This record gives sequence, structure tokens and C-alpha cells, in this order.
Amino acid sequence: MINNMTGTLSIQTENIFPIIKQFLYSDRDIFLRELVSNAVDALHKIKGAAHSGDFQGELGELVVNISIDENARTLTISDNGIGMTAEETDKYINQIAFSSAKDFIEKYQGKIEGIIGRFGLGFYSAFMVADKVEILTRSFKSDKAVTWSCDGSVNYVMGEGERAERGTDVILHISQDADEFLRPWRIEEILKKYSKFLPFTIRFQGKTINNNSPAWIKKPTELGDEDYKNFYKELYPYAEAPLFWIHINVDYPFTLKGILYFPKLKKEVDIQKNKIHLYSNQVFVTDSVEDIVPDFLSLLHGVIDSPDIPLNVSRSYLQGDPNVKKISNHISKKVADKLHDIFHSDRPAYEKAWENVGVFVKYGAIRDHSFLEKTKEIILVYNTENKFFTLDEYKKYVESKQTDRHGKVVFLYATNAEEQFVAIQNAKNIGYDVLLMDGILDVNFIQYIEFQLENTTFVRVDSDGLDKLIDKGVEAVSLYNEEEEKDLKRWTEQAAGKIPVELRPSTLAQLPIFITVPESQRRIMDMQRMGMLGSGEIPDYFIATLNTSSDAFKRVFLMSDEGRQKYLRYLLDLALLSSGRLGGERMAEFIKHSNELSAKIS
Ligand code: ADP
Repeated sequence: MINNMTGTLSIQTENIFPIIKQFLYSDRDIFLRELVSNAVDALHKIKGAAHSGDFQGELGELVVNISIDENARTLTISDNGIGMTAEETDKYINQIAFSSAKDFIEKYQGKIEGIIGRFGLGFYSAFMVADKVEILTRSFKSDKAVTWSCDGSVNYVMGEGERAERGTDVILHISQDADEFLRPWRIEEILKKYSKFLPFTIRFQGKTINNNSPAWIKKPTELGDEDYKNFYKELYPYAEAPLFWIHINVDYPFTLKGILYFPKLKKEVDIQKNKIHLYSNQVFVTDSVEDIVPDFLSLLHGVIDSPDIPLNVSRSYLQGDPNVKKISNHISKKVADKLHDIFHSDRPAYEKAWENVGVFVKYGAIRDHSFLEKTKEIILVYNTENKFFTLDEYKKYVESKQTDRHGKVVFLYATNAEEQFVAIQNAKNIGYDVLLMDGILDVNFIQYIEFQLENTTFVRVDSDGLDKLIDKGVEAVSLYNEEEEKDLKRWTEQAAGKIPVELRPSTLAQLPIFITVPESQRRIMDMQRMGMLGSGEIPDYFIATLNTSSDAFKRVFLMSDEGRQKYLRYLLDLALLSSGRLGGERMAEFIKHSNELSAKIS
């Protein structure tokens, strides 16, 4: 028995206590997580000892009690776990815990930012908030209790004490600069953050603060839809109900449990709020999981719990960690499987959910090629009649009419059903189908998926004259000779101001002048808009195209200079109007002009 002995924690080292105090100042809360985790471990161990027969007594209710004594300025973490004998206290607290805290400090001092979870400081993290720490512990193997105390110097005192039952009290004498940890609301806040789902009852000032049997540790067969939804509410009290969820339960070759929810994303990708929570054996670690799961999966909500994710390493290290890679691959496979399930078992539900799920799948496909491979067959597109297709189905649907002379199938699309209404109508009138690609990621997605699909190209419905949208090799002829075309171009340019003018015969275009936005040009603009090619004001680039197969221009040659200008300007304004580009002063003048014209109707 070690009786009233004093000792020095480690003779060679400098005093690490001042460093511990400074060390994680911005995140001092974790001391409580560490101490409560130790208490929970002690409960696990006594349960284990009972199981193996090493402990024959009454287990009783296994519980961690946390209490504050404001007058004494103490915070006590108390458990009825395995306890420690004097030898164990010396071995675990004086030697092992101290040297591991020391190693941790030496390793991470000055570069603690970005260390996941920051597990590793352990018991000695108590000195972040306490001047003095006492332990009163009684091993299940002994009827004597042990005291240990340390006042933040490298010296400790051990002795004999009184404790009615097995277990351990850790008593923190809170330092002056850590007063907040004597406030009940503050302690409750921290406990709710880290201990909400710990596997044993956690009580604070007599009140249970945790749910010790959260949904993710149960078997999927024990849970119904309501249970999953309720658990979601428990995690995110203010969020809308989730769409569906995946229960993950792997024991080999790594341990991974969790429930991931597909939230209603709407069209906003809100990555900030309601993030996935990472746990390690039911202890909360972090809700910034960026480097642990592929970033597109971070659009999901829920919990993942894995003791196999290394928690005291830097984020950059994590990306290369084989377990982390396996875990994230596993999650993305599960997610893809779930989507396949719904797609095959309930296509209408899948289509209905697509508004939300689509953002996620497209983002995933763009970010992670293997995810695209897994989801290629269940990516949906929908046309302007709100009919849904997979990419394969759509190809079959349009290929008879929309294959160009090179054998490429052309997917016509619009990004805005209102603004591109006229172009959509024109295309439909000649039997083409138009997809609606109006999601926030669609512009990127088109670029990306086009590379992946064979013999398929996406063309925006207003990118060219109707007969050039899908180049069938039929050449329209101009009704005008070279001289006349030169004049026409010059006159129209005068009316067009800054708008570029182009002449092109077209048998199918509806208006004598129509607006086009060349596909290649537009894609560059889209990329600029998304900040991919530098910044700056991005003008709306479009071309006024004269349909020289239209006899509407024949009259122009017979008109006065003034009449010609007015007429061409009017045709041009009609084109702008039909592409949603007429506004401001030009619109006012157009209305005035139209009024004058209407006065002439008899
Ligand atoms: P870790 O928990 O990572 O092992 P700690 O420094 O937190 O490191 O604790 C060191 C050791 O002290 C523990 O492994 C355990 O053996 C012992 N210990 C700490 N707290 C308790 C407790 N409440 N009950 C029993 N043993 C404890």
C-alpha cells in the first residue's frame, strides 16, 4: 500500500502544466469530454469484469454523476466503475496518463489547429481549467480507497481515503480564469454536446442528460420509420423531416455505425447548417467531417460512429488514411445502393424526390468519378412536360428525331422555361423534345456528363437557328445576292447598335430576325459566372441572326432610309422581346412604336 506518499510526475521534463493550461485555450470544453469518457470506460470495464466473472458483486445502475459545488468551487465527475487500487493509480495516472499527455503536448504544441477530435490529452486535460485536481477512487478489488492530488506542479500526493463503494471521483478545483465551468448551464451545454448519446446514464446535478441508446446503435430491424424520423428530430430539432435514410452497420474490416439522412435540399445547397456528426464509440467528436467523408456526402445529415477513424491526427493526414478511405468508399456505396433500391422499387417516389436527391447525385457525380459510375443508370433528367427519364431512356426517346448528320444524338435543353419559352415552343413545333436543366448544378453537370456519354451532345435550345440546332445537313438558301446581303447587314447593324449581327438562311426559324447564343460562347460565359475563369462583369453575349430565307427583307430595298431603319429596328426588337431581352428604354420606345402602328390598323 502506498501511504501518504509524495512523488514527482517526471523528473526530466519541464513542467507541462502551464502548457496544458494555454494549450487548447480556445477549446477548453474538451476536458469534460475526456473525464466523462474515462468514467464511461471505467463503467464498461466493470461490466466486462462482471461478464468474465472477475467481479461477482452487484453491478447496480452504472452511472456517471457530474456535480458542481459553487461555494467550494469544485466540479466533480463521479462514477461507479472499476476504480483503481493504489498501484493502479500510480501506474495509470502518475506514469501512463502523464507521459501520454506529455507526448501529446510535445507532438502537437503550436500546431493543434486542424487536429481531429484532439483525443489524447486525457486525464491531464483537467488542468486546463483546474488549479488542483483530486482523485478519490476505490477499486472493485479492494475495500480501501485511494486519494491522489496534484496542484498543478510536477508533484503529487497520494494517500488512503474513504469511499463507501467502488468507483472514482475526480474533483476539479476550478481556477479563477475558468469560472464559467462552475455555471450549471455551461456544464450542461458541454455535456449535451459531447455526451448526448453516451452508452451509460450521465447525470448532472441529479438530472439525466443523455439518451444512452441512440437509434444508430440499434439493429435496423428494431426500428420503424417513426423511430428514424424521431431520431432525426433529436439531432436537428428545427429541420424539416428527411426524405429517406440509410442505416450503416459494419463490423468488419472496420467498425462503422451510423444513420445518414437525405435532407430536403431544395435548390439551395446549404452545407453550413445541420452537418453530419462524427462520433467515436458514442462520444461526440466533431461536426466538421470534410476530410472524413467525401465532400459531396457532407450534404447528408446524420451520425457516423467509428472508433477506427484516427482522431488525434491532422486533417491532411486523414485523407491518406486507409481506414478513412475504406469508410468513405463504404458510405458512398451504401448511398448509391439506397438510391438504386428506391429507383427500382418505387420509381414515382424516386422521381418525386429527385428535386432534392438530384442536386446531391449530380454533385457527387461531378466530384467523384466512382460515384458517377455507381449512379449513372439512375440519374434522371426531365423535359419541359415534366416527364422523367434516365439518360439511357432519354437517348432512346429522342434519337429517331434528334440525331445529327454525324450520328450524334442531340439533347436539346433549356435552363429557364419562361425566358426561353419561344425557343422551346419553336423546337417543339417541329417535333423536338426539350429538357429542362434548371437546377443550380446543371450547367456544370452538362459539361461533365457530356464527356461521359457516348455520341451525345447537349445543345441549348436557343443556341442557334432552329434548323441548325440539330445539323441534319440540309442547307437552306438565301433569297438575296451578295450585294443585297451586304446592304442588309450594314443596315441591320445600324439598327442593332452593339449587338453583333449575322446573316444566315434558315427554313425553319420563325422570325425574320432571331436571337441566338452560340453554345460554345455560352458555356464560357457560364463558367465565368461560376467564378471558374476569373471574375469581372460578364456581359450577356448574343447574336442577332437575319434569316435570309425570309422574304420579309425584300421590302427593305424599296424603303426610304428612315423607314428602313424603323422597320429593321422593329424586327430586331421583336426578336429581343421573344428571347426575353427587351427592357428599359428600348422597351419603352418599342411600345410607343407599336402603339403608332396599331393606330394604323383598320
Ligand atoms: P486514456 O483514457 O486515453 O487511457 P487518460 O489519461 O484519460 O488516458 O487515463 C489514463 C488511465 O487512467 C486510463 O486508461 C485508466 O486506466 C485510468 N483512469 C482514468 N480515469 C479513470 C476512472 N474514472 N476510473 C478508472 N480508471 C481511470
